[in-house]
Formats: sequence, C-alpha cells, structure tokens
Amino acid sequence: MAESMKGLQRSHRCTEVTNLTGEKVTVMGWVQKSRNKGSIIFVDLRDRSGLLQIIFEEGDVGSENYAKAEKLRSEFVIAVTGTVELRSGGVNENMATGEIELRAESLRILSEADTPPFPIEENSKTKEELRLKYRYLDLRRPDLQENLIMRSKVATLTRQFLSEEGFLEIETPMLTKSTPEGARDYLVPSRVHPGNFYALPQSPQIFKQLLMCSGYDRYFQIVKCFRDEDLRADRQPEFTQIDMELSFVDVDDVIAVNERLLAKMFKETIGVEVSLPIPRMTYKEAMDRFGSDKPDIRFGMELNCVSEYVKDCGFSVFTDAIKNGGSVRGINAEGQGEMPRKKIDALVQFAKDFGAKGLAYLSINADGTYKSSFAKFMTEEELKILTEQMGAKPGDLMFFAADEDDVVFDVLGNLRLELARGLELLKKDEYKFLWVTEFPLLEYSKEEGRYTAKHHPFTMPMEEDLELLNTDPGKVRAKAYDIVLNGTEIGGGSVRIYQNQVQEKMFEVLGFTKEEAYDRFGFLLNAFKYGVPPHAGLAYGLDRLIMLMAKEDSIRDVIAFPKVKDASCLMTEAPNVVELKQLNELGIGITENK
Ligand code: ASP
Repeated sequence: MAESMKGLQRSHRCTEVTNLTGEKVTVMGWVQKSRNKGSIIFVDLRDRSGLLQIIFEEGDVGSENYAKAEKLRSEFVIAVTGTVELRSGGVNENMATGEIELRAESLRILSEADTPPFPIEENSKTKEELRLKYRYLDLRRPDLQENLIMRSKVATLTRQFLSEEGFLEIETPMLTKSTPEGARDYLVPSRVHPGNFYALPQSPQIFKQLLMCSGYDRYFQIVKCFRDEDLRADRQPEFTQIDMELSFVDVDDVIAVNERLLAKMFKETIGVEVSLPIPRMTYKEAMDRFGSDKPDIRFGMELNCVSEYVKDCGFSVFTDAIKNGGSVRGINAEGQGEMPRKKIDALVQFAKDFGAKGLAYLSINADGTYKSSFAKFMTEEELKILTEQMGAKPGDLMFFAADEDDVVFDVLGNLRLELARGLELLKKDEYKFLWVTEFPLLEYSKEEGRYTAKHHPFTMPMEEDLELLNTDPGKVRAKAYDIVLNGTEIGGGSVRIYQNQVQEKMFEVLGFTKEEAYDRFGFLLNAFKYGVPPHAGLAYGLDRLIMLMAKEDSIRDVIAFPKVKDASCLMTEAPNVVELKQLNELGIGITENK
C-alpha cells in the first residue's frame, strides 16, 4: 500500500548530502537497486541529481521498517530519513556520493512498481522503439536527464542574456496563416469556419517582423515551429527555435550579439571557451573550399579546383566535364595511399550515391609511380602538374570529381566528411564555429521552373547586387547568414527587406503576381506602408544545438517526447483516428482511411 507524505518533507536531493556527514536528512526517489545481505540491506536511491547509497539495519529502523525495506524492488518510490555517514565499506569513486552513505532511521514506501520493461540505466542497450514507447521510464535514465537539464540551462541562460541585452520575450500565435519557410504546413481545421484551416507556424517570421514595425525593437522567443517535411534522421515535425529579431541593425550587429550569446552559453553550460570573433566565410568560399554551405572546419582536406590544369589532358571524363561548363576538383587524403582497393570501391559507390557518374582516384607510391583509375590517359608531365596542384606527396591518395559544379561540390563535400569519419577526425569535444555569409538570394527550382527564395522571400539582397535582380537574379547575393558548428547548421537569419519596392520586385522574381503576394502576406506589406525600421534577425534550431553540446548523435536524445521518422509518437500513438462526431463538427469527410 502506498504510504502518504503526511508530516514528511524532502530536505535534499540524493547528491546534495555529500558534505553533510553527521546530519539528519530526508531524501526521496526511486530504488535503483536493492541488495539484501542478511542482516543489512543496501539500497541505491536515485533522483534527478544522481544516486545515494542507503543502508538499512534493523537496530536503526526498527522491525516494521526493516520488513518494508526487505520488500523494496527496482523503481519503488520511497522516502528515507536518516543520518549521513562516511562509508563503512570502500569508497566508490564512480559515484558522486561514493564517500558517504545514508544510515536509514525511517522508511516510507510512497509507491510500488511493476518490473519495468527494460532496465533504467545509463547507456541503455534497449532498442529505441521500446524506450520511446515507455518514454516516461526512458526519461528516468541519467543520460537523458542530463541532456534535459542542460537544455533547461541553455534556455535559462538565453533568457537571461537576451533580456540583459534589451530583448523582450513576446509570444506569437500558433494558430495562424501559412508562413514562408518553404516547407509543407501542418493544418488545423476550423470548426467555426467550416472548410477553413489555420496553419501551424513554420517560424514566427512574419510576426516578429511585424513586432519590429510596432516598435518593440528587440524581440526573442523560445518557440515551437512545425514543418511537415519528409523526415530525415535529424528532423522532427515540431522543433524548437531560439528566435530573435532586432531593429536598426545590419549584419554585423546581429552577428555580434549572437557571438556573445554563444560564448556565454558554451562557457556556462559545458565549460567550452568560444574564441571570438567567430570566423566568417562567404558562401562562395565555403563551396569552393569545402563543397558545402555548412563546412566542418575541424579538419582540412579541402577541395582544389584543377580544371585549369587538366582541361587539355587526354582523359575525356575530365575534359568533357569542363567543356560542358562544369569543373574538375579534387581532395587529397594525406597518407592514405595504401587504402585497400575494396575501400576505394566503396567510396566510388558512395560518390555515385551523391550523383557522381564516377570517382577518379590517384595515389603516389613511394617510388614515385602511380596507382590510379585514369593515369594511363595522361602524360607523365600532366600527372606531375596535377599532383603538384593538389599538394600531394608520395603516400597520399587523391580523389577527383568531374561534373557540373553542383554535383562536384556535393560529391566531394560529402566524400570529405565520409573520409574524415573513417579516419576518426571528427572529435565531438572540439567545437568549431563558423559564420557563412552572402548566401545566394535565390535558388532555381527545375521542378517548378522558377526561382525560389533560398532563405525566405523577406531576405534583403546585398546592396551592390540589387541591379542584378533585373538582369541576372541567380547571381544576386543576400544579406543572409548561417551559424555553423562542426558541419551542422545550428542557426540562420538575414537582414530583411524593408522597402516596398524591393519587396514587390522580390515577389515578382519569385513569380508571384501582386495579388498573390497581397493575398498571402498582405498584412506585412501593408504594415510596411506605415513606417518600418530596418531590421534583421536570426533563429537557432535549439534541438540541434543541444544535441551538439550534449555530444549526442540524435536530436531525439535531447527532446523529452520526440517523434519517430514517420512523424508518429510511439507512446501516445499520435496521430490517430478521431470520432466521427468531431469530423462532422469540422465538416470533414475522410475519403480514404487505410
Ligand atoms: N525564420 C527563419 C528560419 O526559421 C530565421 C530568420 O530568418 O530569422 O529559418
């Protein structure tokens, strides 16, 4: 029978009693394990702070309590009052409370427990599906608790820092109209307006810009956003942003505030010094050097463009790619000349999965001869120039991709990462930040046969490129920036368009008629007519940020109740069918229900 809390008050969490030898305390928590050694019972008690060893002896607790202690099993919830003592047995160095133990004087069993479907322990070996089904048990595990505690700390620090910097925390609606982040919306049917739908926000973008129009000048929010995308490993249909917007600023101001925020966050949560200023790289440089707009700069192995040196060589794969407007680029895996053929073949296949027609390789043997898929098509002199340009020496292994630039970048950018993974160059405790700036404003969508906004349609073109909007829109660079950490984009933002003519031009380039633009975003365009300050902002993906701080591989490990790949929740079994009555109220009929 569950006993009551009457007259009882917890005095400390389990690990808070470490320095309280000789004091009487009351702790409460879950039984991690219990060992009956005949006339003495050892119990490890767990709460969110950690573990504490408790000893029960009949002479201290009395026969009634001792009988209760004999019944204790894993996950029982108990309250124990006793005296903190130095351990009688050996010190346990693996435990924060390893030097002490609690000698019990009384015990209450607050709740009994069935045997859990898996052990509650660090580094669980249990399959994730089972853990997610019983997430409330999974969340008792110390590693997940540490992650969520870290997450809470980051949120608190963010609030503290931003409010000290003059930001106001303001909420924006969840039931709203489609927002312009380019993903599919989650829709919510309206009962009062049958046939009409709200969209859940993909971001607070428009609202935060409106707040700038209204004079709040510095806004932030830690906010849920929703995007109905086909889920990849690192995505969740609902995710959290640290979202902000500032008035009367330009790129440098946004970057400066955020560098201070990141430095504080990393220092105060995980003790990592972020050296400021964080380096910056334009999108173009990032692509040229790393084949990626979110370069991992923890290691080198940079891309090298060798088109110039192979354009007239005898290897038609190279020369054709260049003739067709593409390029030939390579990376040098230093010291990997001895890589077995099987591994190289696997990398060729890896490159093909990223759209390469093939992957050429070349290694230099110690005696200066070559092992290569294409050396036979080139003269000795051509090979010499090529290896020189690649900075390669005997023992190195080079890979080359020859194709349209997009393909070359994608293939080599990913190959570079794959090689680094194989060589264990990606250290989780090394934190390398990078701002990537001057993103292209637009992206050409072959599917839609038109330009789409790379960031979103409110992003300001760079002043010097404004003219190009009329002549060569694909070349326009934007005042957009991403903050990248270890090859992961953890946030991004832009300076916004605040002039109606530029905004209208932008919609025109995106293929919206004026009516369509007003239909979707009219309230913003109208707001701009009544005095709008220049403004800019940024949003972090909080889940990914915490994932990197906690050195986890999955964002599910830093979200209390995450969804799985198909966007369902294994615990609540959402999404689910609803009653016909509810559908009728909403005026909704289901045409097909599998
Ligand atoms: N709303 C943008 C996003 O979600 C961030 C920003 O531009 O501030 O990516």
